[in-house]
Amino acid sequence: MPDSAPLRLAQRVTSLKPSPTLTINAKAKHLKAQGVDLANLSAGEPDFDTPEHIKEAAVKAIRDGFTKYTPVGGIPELKEAVIARLAEDYAVTYRPEQILVSTGGKQALYNIAQALLDPGDEVIIPVPYWVSYPPIVELAGGVPRYLETRAEAGFDIDPAALEALVGPRTRAIILNSPSNPTGCVYSRATLAAVARVAAAHGLVVISDDIYDRIRFDGRPPENILSVAPDLADRVVLVNGVSKTYAMTGWRIGYMAGPEALVKAATRVQGQSTSNPNSIAQMAALAALTGPQECVDRMTAAFRERRDFITRRLNALPGVTCPEPMGAFYAFADLSAYHGARAGDRAIGDSLAMTDYLLDEARIASVPGVAFGDDRFVRFSYASDLATLEAALARLEAALGRLTRG
Ligand SMILES: *Cc1c(COP(=O)(O)O)cnc(C)c1O
Repeated sequence: MPDSAPLRLAQRVTSLKPSPTLTINAKAKHLKAQGVDLANLSAGEPDFDTPEHIKEAAVKAIRDGFTKYTPVGGIPELKEAVIARLAEDYAVTYRPEQILVSTGGKQALYNIAQALLDPGDEVIIPVPYWVSYPPIVELAGGVPRYLETRAEAGFDIDPAALEALVGPRTRAIILNSPSNPTGCVYSRATLAAVARVAAAHGLVVISDDIYDRIRFDGRPPENILSVAPDLADRVVLVNGVSKTYAMTGWRIGYMAGPEALVKAATRVQGQSTSNPNSIAQMAALAALTGPQECVDRMTAAFRERRDFITRRLNALPGVTCPEPMGAFYAFADLSAYHGARAGDRAIGDSLAMTDYLLDEARIASVPGVAFGDDRFVRFSYASDLATLEAALARLEAALGRLTRG
C-alpha cells in the first residue's frame, strides 16, 4: 500500500518549541568542540565540577548494587533529608507524604501542572520568566497569564497589577526568587503582598526556589512561607540539587506541598517516568546531608563574578544591567542598540543581537525574547573570571562597531 497520508502529530506539540537555552547551549558546546574560542555565557548551569564526596556516594551506590527501582516518590532517606533541609531553611514541617523526588526540578514543575490544571485554567507568570514555565503550563492545557514587571523597579511584583490579572479561571502563580533570568530577589514585603492576593483568591503558589541558596546579600534562603507560614496548605515548593551543588546532569529535584497535590503529582510520575535514578538519589542524599562548605565556596565565586560583570556591563555605553541579588545571570538591557547596523547586518531585536554577538564577539548568550522581554540579553556568569574578562572586552569591541542609521 502506498503511504500517502503524512505523519500527523498531536496538536499539543505542533507549537511546542525546543527550550531556547538548551538549544543555544548545545550550539555553543558544538562550536567549542570544533575548536572555536568561544565564551559560552548561555549555560544555565554552574561551571564547577560536582563535589567529590557527592560523586563518591554515587560510586558507592553502584558498587553496593543500589541499581534497582526505588519507590516512585523517592527513597525514604532522601525524603527525610529534604524535610530536614526545608525545616532548617524555612522553619516548615513536612511529612514524607508531602514530598516527591523527581527527575530534576523541571519534572517537579511538570508534574505539578499535570496534577493541578484542567484545560483553560490560568497560571500567572511574572515577566521575565524562566523559559520552561509557559510550555509546562500549556502542555497541561493551561493558559499562561503574563504579569508585566518593570526593570526600573527591580522586576518587582506590583500587587495591584497581580490582583487585576486574577480571574475566575486563575488557579496558580509561579514565583522564582532568586530569579532566572534577572537575579532579582523578592523582598519580604512583596512576598507578603503576593500571599495576601493568593489567600484572597484561593490561588496555589508554586514557589520555584531552585536558586534559594545562591544569594549575595548574606541572608538565609527565603520564600513565601518565610512571611506567610499559614499559607502552607496552598504553597508548593520546588527545589533541587542541580544549581546548589553543581549537579545539573544528575537530574534530581523535589517538591514539598499539600498532601493531595503531592500524591496526585506522584501518580503522574508513577505513570510516566517512575522513580528518579536510584544512583543519583544517593548522590543527592550525600549533597543534602554532607558538608555544605562547597555551597558557600561556589556562591562566593559567583558573587565575585557578579560584581565584575555587572560593573563592566553598566560601564558600556547604552547598556544597563540591574544588579543581580542571586543565581548566576546578568540580564542586560541592550535595546539602545536596536536599530543599529554593522555593515549590511541590522540589529532589530534581541535574537539578532545574540546572533551578532555569537558571530562577531564569540559570545554565546540568550536573547531576552526567550524570557518574555525583547530588550534584554541574558549572560550567564557561571564561567571563570578570565573567560568573563575576555568576553567583556570582545563585547565592548563588538558593540563599538555598531553604527546608527
Ligand atoms: C535550572 C532551573 C530549574 C530546574 O532545573 P533542574 O535541573 O530540572 O532541577 C527550575 N527552575 C529554574 C528557574 C531553573 O533555572
